[in-house]
Amino acid sequence: MDLKRLSETAIDEVRKASSAEELFRIEKKYLGKKGELTKILRSLSDLPAEKRKETGKNANILKNTLEGEIKAKNEELSGKTKGVVIDVTAPGKRIEYGHLHPITQILNELIEAGKMLGFSVVDGPEIETAWYNFDALNTDENHPSRDHTDTFYISNDLLLRTHTSPVQIRYMQENKPPIRIFAPGRVYRRDSDATHTPMFNQLEGLLVDEEVTMSDLKGTLLYLVQAVFGEEREIRLRPHHFPFTEPSAEVDVSCGLCSGKGCKSCKGEGWLEILGAGMVHPNVLRAGGIDPKKYQGFAFGMGIERIAMLKYGVDDLRAFYDNDLRFTEQF
Ligand SMILES: [Zn+2]
Repeated sequence: MDLKRLSETAIDEVRKASSAEELFRIEKKYLGKKGELTKILRSLSDLPAEKRKETGKNANILKNTLEGEIKAKNEELSGKTKGVVIDVTAPGKRIEYGHLHPITQILNELIEAGKMLGFSVVDGPEIETAWYNFDALNTDENHPSRDHTDTFYISNDLLLRTHTSPVQIRYMQENKPPIRIFAPGRVYRRDSDATHTPMFNQLEGLLVDEEVTMSDLKGTLLYLVQAVFGEEREIRLRPHHFPFTEPSAEVDVSCGLCSGKGCKSCKGEGWLEILGAGMVHPNVLRAGGIDPKKYQGFAFGMGIERIAMLKYGVDDLRAFYDNDLRFTEQF
């Protein structure tokens, strides 16, 4: 191969090399002990004197050029990993663990506490009939909660349940007392602001047996509240009205910041509203096929998001559903 062609192919090959290994092979091919350029340089003495000088000069120029090209290419190739310094003293990478959503955590805490009291967990449909969602729960035909502005209707008779209470009826129809159930699940209402979302989670509790009293209800609620908020917290029951319970009560938990003395967080009240409860209305027991003369019961319903907001001091409910890791990673 003459020098001119050798020069062209060699430089071309070096420039096209895509890895250090390939470049090393090319270098060996031309400049190694048995390389093509090395052979030419070694055989210079065999050439006639007049040719020797010129060939020797050109071969040395090519050798320098090739060495320069190889050096440049080497730098280019190693540039891919330039700047990567391995610091053997650096601490290991932190492994990111996933965890349960705060709403699920609260729900699990309540369910665990309920199991200690003998409550089992049951389920019901999210698409309900108006009968199960309202009529069977003693809700008057003209009650405002039936309104299309409050409830998501699928048809005249089908709707997205507005509370977990229909599960009470379904369970009573299928089971005889004693009954102790928790019915957690999603419920839907036409409402959206800082403290309401169109979908939220409720936990329904129902106990039906002989000789059940309001104090059984209070004891159960105190146990559940203390399981979630801590044993130092107290509850109080305020008279209220719900169609499905009689008597009915709104239940407050003592403020965790001021222990009931009154502060900014509880608006000076010392108490925070957390749930609604009461003794099951005789009409509701009847709708479930249970004789109210023989059995009584209590029921309660709590919004899990509300409990989570109070427990963690979150003032915008929507944050639970924005899926912002900066928020959810805090729990
Ligand atoms: Zn307070």
